[in-house]
Amino acid sequence: MSAAPATAARPRSFHAGVHPPDRKAATDRLPIERMPFVDRYVLPLAQHIGAPAKPVVQVGQPVQRGELIAEPGGFVSVALHAPASGRVEAIELRLHPNGQMLPAIVIAADPFASQRLAPAPAVDPAALTRDDFLERVQRGGIVGLGGAAFPSHVKLRVPEGKRIRHVVINGCECEPYLTCDHRLMAERPEAVMRGAEIIMGTLEAAHGYVGVEANKPDAIAALAEAAPDSIEVVPLQVKYPQGAEKLLIDAIFEREVPLGGLPIDIEVLVNSVGTTVALCDLFDRGAPLVERIVTVTGPAVARPRNLVVPLGTPLSALLKHCGGLLPNARQVVLGGPMMGMAQKSLDAPIVKGSGGVLCLDRDAVTQLREFPCIRCARCVEACPMQLNPTRLAQLIRAERVDALDGLHLKNCFECAACSFVCPSRIPLVQWMRMGKAMLRAHEAAAQS
Ligand code: SF4
Ligand code: SF4
Repeated sequence: MSAAPATAARPRSFHAGVHPPDRKAATDRLPIERMPFVDRYVLPLAQHIGAPAKPVVQVGQPVQRGELIAEPGGFVSVALHAPASGRVEAIELRLHPNGQMLPAIVIAADPFASQRLAPAPAVDPAALTRDDFLERVQRGGIVGLGGAAFPSHVKLRVPEGKRIRHVVINGCECEPYLTCDHRLMAERPEAVMRGAEIIMGTLEAAHGYVGVEANKPDAIAALAEAAPDSIEVVPLQVKYPQGAEKLLIDAIFEREVPLGGLPIDIEVLVNSVGTTVALCDLFDRGAPLVERIVTVTGPAVARPRNLVVPLGTPLSALLKHCGGLLPNARQVVLGGPMMGMAQKSLDAPIVKGSGGVLCLDRDAVTQLREFPCIRCARCVEACPMQLNPTRLAQLIRAERVDALDGLHLKNCFECAACSFVCPSRIPLVQWMRMGKAMLRAHEAAAQS
């Protein structure tokens, strides 16, 4: 059975969730600027979910901006392209934003190069077979830019016997502080619509929706102006985590994705705004994914900004361009404050999934003492997946993996809403992560 859009009064939303202060005012009116090219780029081969890309260049080889430097390492993998013209300086282990040392291609930029992408003819996606379309998306290096970095060609490949009727473009950007999607929707609404039409065309989906939280009225107005009849702009309540795929579907269609299922089970596909524009640029301009928009913000950076940043730009160079860290800086997080990842070094580069660089001061990262659970049930009320975080945390602490059966821990998508509301400051999301790792280990042991 397919989903059908809800007709309830707007703005719509989903069950549960939390209301952290959005803290977007520092950058939500700042136009997107272009980050100048820097001396050196570090391109990890694993910038997406799946097999790492395989280098096709040698150390010492000159490369042009946009040139293929690594090919997909398997079906669930995408290509990687040079973000700047220059020379391959090394292929070696480098610090990844996930904290590990992983293989990367290092490019020394040519200071005399124009750094323009070589012009490429537009390709009409409607003239391609489904397989040719998907191969171009894979070779264009396109992944989910909302943070998941899941290869887009895999997501767009609809299995035999299934179909997509509704395409939802995710413009919620519900993480506090981040504004890169907001600015993209306000400044390039036609590209959002063009990308949505490309996806709808290839999937033969009749209806499109762009879900946007109501705290972005300029983006909503710009999108509504650019929208064709087949695409509806849907204002949504400002609530975290509104941008989670299944919750966005719940808000727009008032239908739940079945437990353990996927959006395709109700004939819906969700794509982020950034990815949608990347698809538009790939087909209309021949541009592979060599850069992305990043919000640099927080109380501990001198000049917050929304920037188009070449992939591989080290955080140190990016922050220098934003006036540097302030003396009270204590932590730099890649992503937002709820789901982002704290960085141990500014040597780590911007990768395809990096939508924000959040610079926090002492007040924002003060570690407050944890107290015992007072059974207030706020975490239960906040959990959008209707889990019982306090009960789960108790069992995980006690390593009672056997007792986790039937409590649906796997449905936790680590949004941190439970941790946010807990008055005892219990790091519930960390217990959920640990519990999921314990479950995986338990299942692997059972299979071996
Ligand atoms: S249990 Fe998981 S899904 Fe539920 S609020 Fe906590 S982190 Fe989010
Ligand atoms: S919110 Fe915190 S204190 Fe309240 S029940 Fe959940 S874990 Fe316990």
